[in-house]
Amino acid sequence: MSALEQSRHLATAIPGPRSQDLITRKKAAVASGVGNTMPVYAARAFGGIVEDVDGNRLIDLGSGIAVTTVGNASPRVVDAVREQVANFTHTCFMVTPYEGYVAVAEALNRLTPGDGDKRSALFNSGSEAVENAIKIARVYTGKQAVVSFDHAYHGRTNLTMALTAKSMPYKHGFGPFAPEIYRAPLSYPFRDAEFGGKELATDGELAARRAITMMDKQVGAENLAAVIIEPIQGEGGFIVPAEGFLPTLLQWCRDNDVVFIADEVQTGFARTGRMFACEHEGIVPDLIVTAKGIADGMPLSAVTGPASIMDAPHVGGLGGTYGGNPVACAAALATIATIEDGGLVDRAAHIESLMKDKLGRMQAEDDRIGDVRGRGAMIAVELVKPGTLEPDAELTKKLSTAAHQAGVIVLTCGTFGNVLRFLPPLTISDELLLEALDVLELILRDL
Ligand SMILES: *Cc1c(COP(=O)(O)O)cnc(C)c1O
Repeated sequence: MSALEQSRHLATAIPGPRSQDLITRKKAAVASGVGNTMPVYAARAFGGIVEDVDGNRLIDLGSGIAVTTVGNASPRVVDAVREQVANFTHTCFMVTPYEGYVAVAEALNRLTPGDGDKRSALFNSGSEAVENAIKIARVYTGKQAVVSFDHAYHGRTNLTMALTAKSMPYKHGFGPFAPEIYRAPLSYPFRDAEFGGKELATDGELAARRAITMMDKQVGAENLAAVIIEPIQGEGGFIVPAEGFLPTLLQWCRDNDVVFIADEVQTGFARTGRMFACEHEGIVPDLIVTAKGIADGMPLSAVTGPASIMDAPHVGGLGGTYGGNPVACAAALATIATIEDGGLVDRAAHIESLMKDKLGRMQAEDDRIGDVRGRGAMIAVELVKPGTLEPDAELTKKLSTAAHQAGVIVLTCGTFGNVLRFLPPLTISDELLLEALDVLELILRDL
C-alpha cells in the first residue's frame, strides 16, 4: 500500500458520487436503526487522515470513537495481524487455548493500576466486558444491586442499556431493562455550579457524599454488589468529575464490601495522557473494564482485577465463542508495544496542551463555548446559548455538519447533545490537529 498523504484535501463535494451510490445501497440493504455520523464511505486510513472512496482526505478527530488510538492500520499491528491470521484464525480459547490470550492477560495485569496478584478475562466488545464485570462482582459479593451514574454510557446490550443513562437513542423503546440497576448523581462540575452551587462544583468529596447518601438510603450497601463508573465520562460529555469524587466513592465501596468497577473502555490505553484515566485520580479500582483502544480496531475487550475477585466465578462460568480471538490478541500485543515503545502516553499529554491552549483562546473570545474540558487526547467543548448555561444542541449540530463538509471528522456527545468531542489518533501531526481546530474556529465564527 502506498503511504497515505497526511493532508486535508477535498476532491469532490462531501459526499462525492461514489459515497452517494453507497448511501443509496446502504438505505436499501442495512437496517435504518444503524446510523452514520459521516456521509462518506472510508477507503483507507493512516496517521491523522481518513481517505474516502472519492479521494477526499479528511482530518480524523474521532479515531472511530477512541479506538484507533495508535493510528489506523498501525504498522506493527498490521504485521502482527498478518502473521497470526496466516497461522490460525480461531480455535476457541475454551477449546484449544493459545499463547496470545495469555500474553494479553499478562500485559493487562501488568499495565492496569494496582500491584497485587491479578487476573484478566477477554471478550469481544465493551458491553460484553461490562456485563462480565457485573457477573463477577455478583458472584464475589453474593449481592445483586448495581449502581451507575447520571450521564453514564456502558453499552447497548440489555444489562448495559439499563446501566446507560440516556434514553434517546440508546434505550428508547427497547425495554424492559435488567432489574436491580440504580442511578446515582454524578459530579459534573460545569452543571453542578448551576444546580448545586460553587461548592458542589469544586468539592468532589461533597458530590460523592450526595451519591453515597443515595446508595446508602435507596439501595443499601448490604444489597449492593457493584458501583460502575467511567473515570471520565465518554458519551455523557467528557465529564471530568471534581477532584476527590472518585477516591471518596472508592473508599466507601471498600468500607462496604461493594466492588468498584472502572469502565475505562473509552479512557484506557494512553487516551487521557496516562495509560489508564484512574491514574490521574490516584485510585486503584477493584475491576477495570477495557476495550476500544486495546487492539487498534480489532474487536477485543477485557475485565482485569485482583485474583480474589476475578477467580470467584466457577470454572466454565466465564467465556464465549470468540472472546480473546487470536487475531485480536495479536493486534492488542502490537498495540500495547506501540504505545509503550512510541512514548504515546506522553504524546497524548502533549495533544492536551495543544488543544486546550487553542480551545481556551477560542473560549475567551466566544461566550457560546461554555466549557473546555477533558484530558489527554480526549477533549471536548460544551456549547451553550451565549453567556448562559443553556445547552445549544442546534449550534453543535450545525458546527459538526459544517466541519464534515470541510473535511474534518468530529463527533458530538453529551446528554443534551451540545458537546463537541475530539478523539484524535495519537499519531496525528501537530499541524493537522491545529489545522482542524482552525477550520472549526472559522466555521464557528460564521455561524
Ligand atoms: C463504547 C463504550 C462501551 C461499549 O462498548 P462496545 O464495544 O460498543 O460494546 C462501554 N463503556 C464505555 C465507557 C464506552 O465508551
